[in-house]
Amino acid sequence: MTRARHRCAVCDRPVKAGRYRLCSRGCGAKLCRATHRPPCNDVHGGQCSNLQLPDEETT
Ligand SMILES: [Zn+2]
Ligand SMILES: [Zn+2]
Repeated sequence: MTRARHRCAVCDRPVKAGRYRLCSRGCGAKLCRATHRPPCNDVHGGQCSNLQLPDEETT
C-alpha cells in the first residue's frame, strides 16, 4: 500500500497537510513546524540541496 503522507525532510515525522512549510530555497523539502529544537527549517538550511546553487555566487 502506498500512503501519500507528507513527511518532514529533516526529522522524518509525518506532517499534516497545511501544517508544514516548504523550504524557502525552493528545493521542495517539507519542514514540520514542531516546537522541538533546533527547528527543522533551521537544520534543513544547512543541508539544503539548493544551498550551493550557482546563482548564489554573486561576488
Ligand atoms: Zn521536522
Ligand atoms: Zn531546501
